[in-house]
Amino acid sequence: MNLKEKIFDALHKVKDPEINTVSILELGMLEEIEISEEAVSIKLLPTFMGCPALEVIERNVAEAVLGTAGTRRVEVKFIHHPPWTSDRITENGRQRLKEFGISPPPNHISETGEWEAECPFCGSIYTTMENLFGPAACRSILYCRSCRNPFEALKPYPR
Ligand SMILES: [Zn+2]
Repeated sequence: MNLKEKIFDALHKVKDPEINTVSILELGMLEEIEISEEAVSIKLLPTFMGCPALEVIERNVAEAVLGTAGTRRVEVKFIHHPPWTSDRITENGRQRLKEFGISPPPNHISETGEWEAECPFCGSIYTTMENLFGPAACRSILYCRSCRNPFEALKPYPR
């Protein structure tokens, strides 16, 4: 493996601190890896504004990459251009979110601004919004009318 592949490998092991089944790569947070003689620079896009885990992610990324970077310095930066969107979550990432019991952000939003969330337990879209503001700013609480379970869903972003 070359250095870049090793770094990818290391980044793949960095999970979201709150949703520990999904890696930051699967969430689409990685924008760029720059490697020079002296440094490895990782540019990440923050996901939902207000999610409090960015500092933890920054530290975990730095630690993971440090092990592969040899004598190089490791820099981790959050950048805001291009903005992160929930479309960046990979198919694998969507699957991992469901395994955690969280409905991934919808691909489709109706013209009235309503979005359909799929129940992570039974796959039904016969669901209702219980509380737009869930335990974290980026999540909502929904209720599945098919299997009668409440579940969390990630909001589409931007919307
Ligand atoms: Zn269900």
